[in-house]
Amino acid sequence: MKETVATESGLSRIHPATNGRGAAPQAIRDDATTREIPARPWPVFDWPRRLFQLVFRMVPYPTKPRLIKIGSPNRKSPVLVTTNYDLTVRRVCRALAGTDCYLLVAPAGGLDVWCAAGGGRFSIDSIISIIKTSRIAEIVDHRRLLLPELSASGINMFDLKRRTGWIGIFGPVEIEDVPEFLKTKHKTETMTRVTFTVLQRLEMAVAMWGSLTLRFTLFPALIFGWRAGLWFGLTVALFSLAISLGCFVVPGKTFVQKSGVLALIGYAVTLGILSYLDQATPFEAVKWATLIGFASFLAGTAFPSYSPYWPCGYSKLFYGSCDLQLEVIETQCIGCGVCDNVCPVECFALTDQKKMEFVNPKVCVGCGACVLQCPTDAIINEVAEEHLRQATCS
Ligand code: SF4
Ligand code: SF4
Repeated sequence: MKETVATESGLSRIHPATNGRGAAPQAIRDDATTREIPARPWPVFDWPRRLFQLVFRMVPYPTKPRLIKIGSPNRKSPVLVTTNYDLTVRRVCRALAGTDCYLLVAPAGGLDVWCAAGGGRFSIDSIISIIKTSRIAEIVDHRRLLLPELSASGINMFDLKRRTGWIGIFGPVEIEDVPEFLKTKHKTETMTRVTFTVLQRLEMAVAMWGSLTLRFTLFPALIFGWRAGLWFGLTVALFSLAISLGCFVVPGKTFVQKSGVLALIGYAVTLGILSYLDQATPFEAVKWATLIGFASFLAGTAFPSYSPYWPCGYSKLFYGSCDLQLEVIETQCIGCGVCDNVCPVECFALTDQKKMEFVNPKVCVGCGACVLQCPTDAIINEVAEEHLRQATCS
């Protein structure tokens, strides 16, 4: 697939939205508006980058914010927006091959859409930046942006319209569903919800292993020697795999408990192997108890951050995300369905009286998208009162 970037050339109309204060921008010509970037000649040499992005998914990997032309779009073609995370951009381009459209890659700190929106890096300012620098308004006649649904926790569509004049539409969660959505103009129930397939869980297991071993291998290596560092890496890999694949079936209320169950089984098996090999010394028993206990604790605490179904611990740790306990104020609800449309899990249901009910609080991942998007502020956070009480100086 070819990727093309808009350039300045020729003369054409300039939309008022991009012709604000300061020097008038050069116009972009309707035809021949793009400079083609040849596809990578030897994708095989791309493997270090791909491997890095697989193992270190949590590390930002920024790509240039820009306008990408996919297929042969015209002035009526849809305009999609995503963040400038290299992996996301590559996946979006791959999924949209065969769809004529424009893709705006917005500056968002090189993070994926959900993390960037939840952490405040993918915001209306990001979109304003890319609208203006790409000069997309000169290339299309409409003013509609198709946003990823998972950006709803950071981008309020009413503010977007007010500040940019562009209408934001939240598309499907999965980019693979976008071509179908563009054809039918209908977002089905499955397009609205996040999934966590076996393949996705395997991918997250690798990412979790990469992140944990990079940060924590030094500790066991310093205490028990470098060989213990290698065994620790292997132990973390096994726990990452086991907790990711067994997240729905391993008994335990929390993931630390689930991981603890796996640790007990793993330790019993390890002691059995050591006895068989005649190496069950007290030192080995303590060493393996430490390695397995540490690896299981890390995997248990980190796992929710690598899943779409449980509140992200990293957000709390690094971005200070808010505690949420939501309630819908019935008298304020107009039954518009926006909250259900942006909720990545299944928390809401419309009553016979056309009022939204928060029916499934247990599955809420605390993304805050519904609170941000509700046009009548009918969804309130009950924890706010507690925050206020704690924040009051006595
Ligand atoms: S977004 Fe607000 S007003 Fe609309 S259905 Fe949900 S709670 Fe009701
Ligand atoms: S109900 Fe929970 S998961 Fe759903 S949008 Fe609101 S905060 Fe996010």
